[in-house]
Amino acid sequence: MMEIEEEKFNILKLDPDQLESFLLQKGFKKFRGSQINNWIWNKKIINPDEMTNLPAEIKSYINPDRGLPLIKKVNNNDPEAVLILVELEDKNLIEMVIIDKDNHYTLCVSTGVGCPLNCKFCATGKIPYKRQLTSFEIIWQVWLAQRYLISQGEHRNIRNVVMMGMGEPFLDPQGAVHAAQWLSDERSLNMGQRRITISTAGVVPGINYLAKINRQFRLAVSLNAVSDKMRRELMPVNKKWNLDKLLGAVRHYVEATNRAVTFEYVMLKSINDQPEHAAELIKLIRGIKCKLNLIPYNQAVEYYQPPTPENLDKFQNKLKKAGVETTVRLSSGKNIKAGCGQLAGEF
Ligand code: SAH
Repeated sequence: MMEIEEEKFNILKLDPDQLESFLLQKGFKKFRGSQINNWIWNKKIINPDEMTNLPAEIKSYINPDRGLPLIKKVNNNDPEAVLILVELEDKNLIEMVIIDKDNHYTLCVSTGVGCPLNCKFCATGKIPYKRQLTSFEIIWQVWLAQRYLISQGEHRNIRNVVMMGMGEPFLDPQGAVHAAQWLSDERSLNMGQRRITISTAGVVPGINYLAKINRQFRLAVSLNAVSDKMRRELMPVNKKWNLDKLLGAVRHYVEATNRAVTFEYVMLKSINDQPEHAAELIKLIRGIKCKLNLIPYNQAVEYYQPPTPENLDKFQNKLKKAGVETTVRLSSGKNIKAGCGQLAGEF
């Protein structure tokens, strides 16, 4: 969480609670916080000159030119996805993707400048890991994306936010959850908790934390393999938390929250896409209230290939027959390198 002292010259970076306590401390009434948040999140205005109902002293703490993430570049050459490069205060670059599908917008946000987990099939793992994003940097992507849509004459709101961009959210579970709370806070964007998904490569303490806090945010777990041997090779994080520990934590999460989990499974030709893998997967997740998302591999690392359509079909059918709700997620925007696993902080 941010230190109020340090950030006092730009109250745009404060969450609703921090903002209220800052204002009270300065001798202002609490409702000023709602007014400010209304400008930011409902009207999408951050220029204090336009905030007509605020006293001058409060306006002096609002500095849109001080340290906010900025849009650097946009690629909208895809009917379903807009890829956006964002520059952070310290000049680090991250990417986010606006997905326009099923008549609503989903925003895929990043949670890290790079990622240290080094999943073999993911492009983000190939760039140097710098740091996690602050909760402010995570939620501000939503603000920027919404402002971008408005600039394109589009006034529909972003409906879902998925933490599935660059980075591993659960390297800082508190930060990821704080960002989710902030987005769902009725004083800011008031986004439904169920519209926010946190996706993890299997960082168990994060799953436990989410189980404990008793909120309705959705959990996605990138499973991607059916045995420890296979998973260790593809996802080194499995050395720290193996399938037993991971699925134990997931079972506990489902019990504690009574919510289903979504398993993601990147399909890699000949590696994890065979009928015997489907059979093992069925065994592995048996008894867990879940949905399964099959993601055919998007080109990110030379070595891997997507499954053939026939193998994908067979795999899906086998799981469906076993009663697992299974969908194939064809990544939007893969031709503009905006698909799952293709974000590398530059384009
Ligand atoms: N670190 C988190 C958040 C990133 S989400 C996590 O692993 O869940 C990114 C999703 O895309 C994950 O499910 C990951 O397994 C998947 N993915 C990574 N590289 C991919 C690729 N090349 N093609 C398809 N999916 C990929």
